[in-house]
Amino acid sequence: MNIPYGRQNITEEDIKVVIETLQSDYLTQGPKILEFEEAFAKYVGAKYAVAIANGTAALHLCAMALDVEQGQKVITTPITFAASANCVRYCGGEVVFGDIDPETYLLDINSVRKLLEASPKGTYQGIIPVDFAGRAVDLEAYKKLADEYNLWIIEDACHAPGGYFTDSKGQQQLCGNGNFAELAIFSFHPVKHIACGEGGMITTNDEALYKKLLKLRTHGIVKSEDQYTNSIAFAGGDEKYPLWYMEMQDLGYNYRLTDFQAALGLSQLSRANEGIDRRRQIAATYFDAFNGKDYIQGQSGVVEGHAYHLYIIEVENRLGLYNYLREHGIYAQIHYIPCHLMPYYRQFGWKEGDRPFSENYYKLCISLPMYPTLSEAQQQYVISAINTFYEAE
Ligand SMILES: *Cc1c(COP(=O)(O)O)cnc(C)c1O
Repeated sequence: MNIPYGRQNITEEDIKVVIETLQSDYLTQGPKILEFEEAFAKYVGAKYAVAIANGTAALHLCAMALDVEQGQKVITTPITFAASANCVRYCGGEVVFGDIDPETYLLDINSVRKLLEASPKGTYQGIIPVDFAGRAVDLEAYKKLADEYNLWIIEDACHAPGGYFTDSKGQQQLCGNGNFAELAIFSFHPVKHIACGEGGMITTNDEALYKKLLKLRTHGIVKSEDQYTNSIAFAGGDEKYPLWYMEMQDLGYNYRLTDFQAALGLSQLSRANEGIDRRRQIAATYFDAFNGKDYIQGQSGVVEGHAYHLYIIEVENRLGLYNYLREHGIYAQIHYIPCHLMPYYRQFGWKEGDRPFSENYYKLCISLPMYPTLSEAQQQYVISAINTFYEAE
């Protein structure tokens, strides 16, 4: 019996809808894409959604749509998947890492403010906060700061579809709802809440950005008369543009999702709330089991609005525990190796000691199995393996 840290849940219904789509007229760019986009936008409370080939491509298009360019600086957290930072580099911009809040593990807004205050206004272009582990960033606070410095925000919500924070008026603000950020992105990689194989989504409330993203997703090509800039005569028409006509206006990409992936995503989305409920239950069980054990640190209790992509604890002898769990078929994982100390980012001058809270967190963190189909018996097995490891030490 192997227990991974996260895994997808594919049901008979999921399989059925994928087969139906495979037997339909469309494999890509069919009706399921728009259906998935509309359902997802509704799920997170945003106006628009654009389905993308994967979360990394979604980040790339966001950085392009917001005109990241050479010489521009963007702030993100070191404790994230590398793609959150890499999207800035794709466009030639410079990544500046803040530090995390050691209690929440989220990008510490005070570390961001310090960076902004230390440079002339205009040095920085944007902020990419991450709803790390599924815990929603307080974007209301970030929006206030961003407005002061005329910055945009891309919310990396890959860990948190269905998560929310409570704003200063007591309103629940869903991750990716676009109320406090220009753009938000999600991933449908199998370890995330909703699995499409590969897949991603961008959400926004900004119509101009939405249109730009649609264009960039498909080679920079537009197919509607009101957007054309070449003349009708050039296009080969007489009174209007001929039906075959289209224009490539920007250097875009092919970052489309397929129709059968969208069908799978739609089917998965219909169970997303159930999945979060189960994840919260699993979190509560871990919390109760470890509460008061002196060898387990970093438990924050069950946090309201947390989408629990990951359940993380901090422990001494993390290597010993990790290996012991593996020997017992439990594949815990480490999230993440601080981005600023990856060899790629070290070349820009980042070094040990630059972001002490992130680096200290990395020494201790370990992510325990967390996914809706983890059974109660399996979770008890994980808990007792951890307790046995420390109590026998
Ligand atoms: C998974 C993930 C991504 C990238 O998504 P892919 O679909 O794997 O490209 C980006 N940011 C975070 C925080 C992620 O967890």
